[in-house]
Amino acid sequence: MICVSIGRGRHRSMIAEARHVAEQGAQLVELRLDYIRRAVNIKRLLANRRCPIIATCRREEDGGKWTASDADRLTLLRQAIAEGVDYVDLEEDVAGQIPRYGKTKRIVSYHNFVETPEDVQSIHDRMCTKDPDIVKIATLAHHPHDNLRLLRLIENSSVPTVAFCMGEQGILSRLLSGRFGAPFTYATFHEDRALAPGQLSYRQMTEMYRYTNISKSTVIYGVVADPVAHSLSPVIHNAAFQDSGLDMVYIPFRVPLDELGSFLGDCPELGIKGLSVTIPHKGEIMQFLDQVDTDAATIGACNTAVFNGQQISGYNTDHQAAVDSLLLAHTSSGATPLKGKTSLILGAGGAASSVAYGLTQLGSDVVITSRNEERSNALAERFNCRTVPWEERQNIRAGVLINTTPIGMHPKVDESPYEKRHIDRGMVVFDTVYNPEQTLLIKYAREQNCRVITGVDMFIRQAELQFRHFTGQEAPKEVMRNQLKRSTGAARY
Ligand code: NAP
Repeated sequence: MICVSIGRGRHRSMIAEARHVAEQGAQLVELRLDYIRRAVNIKRLLANRRCPIIATCRREEDGGKWTASDADRLTLLRQAIAEGVDYVDLEEDVAGQIPRYGKTKRIVSYHNFVETPEDVQSIHDRMCTKDPDIVKIATLAHHPHDNLRLLRLIENSSVPTVAFCMGEQGILSRLLSGRFGAPFTYATFHEDRALAPGQLSYRQMTEMYRYTNISKSTVIYGVVADPVAHSLSPVIHNAAFQDSGLDMVYIPFRVPLDELGSFLGDCPELGIKGLSVTIPHKGEIMQFLDQVDTDAATIGACNTAVFNGQQISGYNTDHQAAVDSLLLAHTSSGATPLKGKTSLILGAGGAASSVAYGLTQLGSDVVITSRNEERSNALAERFNCRTVPWEERQNIRAGVLINTTPIGMHPKVDESPYEKRHIDRGMVVFDTVYNPEQTLLIKYAREQNCRVITGVDMFIRQAELQFRHFTGQEAPKEVMRNQLKRSTGAARY
């Protein structure tokens, strides 16, 4: 069950939003009385309610807006109980001052906006002595492992417990708390109006993550990155799982580089069966893999990890996606279309490695150029390629031009790594940047009537291949592509 938290300054707005989410299917609404700017009229707020209500009035120290006296606050909560509110939220330190009355259920809560304390189990034990119907614990995550500590609390408690971590690192506990036995999780009315850090909106919870369908049998996948907010993988993989009728969900995991090992250790207990791996973890994850396929081992980077119990297998679908995209653009050019053809790769990072490996496998004469000569040389040496100084890149006569730098990516969409006048008609131009799809470089190439491969082509292909590793099934490619197009440039998660 999802509880939608509503914090508005006016009674009218609060009532309207509560009605709206109830009509959308919400089964529980939290009214944040501390947000109301005038004297709170609890009777008015509770009249004609469409679904059960939690009355909450948070002090500033607990992350709320209540600035009047605590005595007034407790009076307001007692009034809510007297009016028959369905649930009342009582912080641990005041729970003893407000006795049980009528049918109102008691949520005894603890908030910590600084950390997830070491003694969270003893905090929970203490809260269980305050006559709760539900215990609620919300703490700030500094480490991915904090999530599992709170989820274990839920699982091991005899009192129904809602526990989750706040902050971007805590999103997984908000989404998986029901799977561990929490009676509900919190969502906000709108993604732009989170009442606590890391809170997702009701729409995101229901449409993208299908929270109410997540159960013990649901298989968990996700993307591990830092940062992760920009990732479009959750949108496309969740759309693909839904379209394929699979009991699977795909979640963003923000994991700092030095905590990757600890996170991978938690994955089996969290129910995670597979990961998309992206910046900065593609190289780092190699040391934790039990099996690595030849492509990932040769490139030295893995973008897909699959769990089989404690064993982790690693793959590189970026490489195959780049090769497939290049071959697709050359379907009319014979069996070995890139053999002997000069390809110029702009950039010498992770994507460049995948592309350079793929192109050398296809027999192309590969030239690498980047603003960092040392990096260019190192990459060229690995795959037996040539290099050219960055300033001279436009003097090369190449049949295939591939941009693997972020130049042209949102928001700097008016930049191109290559000038239009140097793009020849016969060239194939491949831009790995996918946000936006129509980069300035792609626009120049189209204007010169070149064949183009966009970053979206490659991104969808690598995601399709990941989907196959995750599920053993073919991916619904068009669903993924349409979802990506719809989401490009929009809010993430
Ligand atoms: P990376 O490892 O950081 O490499 C980026 C490369 O671009 C480096 O050589 C870097 O040079 C160079 N660079 C960065 N900013 C530059 C600038 N302003 N001018 C010139 N060179 C610049 O990153 P990556 O993982 O390879 O990703 C690079 C791009 O590929 C991103 O835009 C990403 O979205 C795209 N990509 C797309 C897909 C897909 O499926 N479509 C998959 C993977 C990556 P320095 O070493 O000097 O910083």
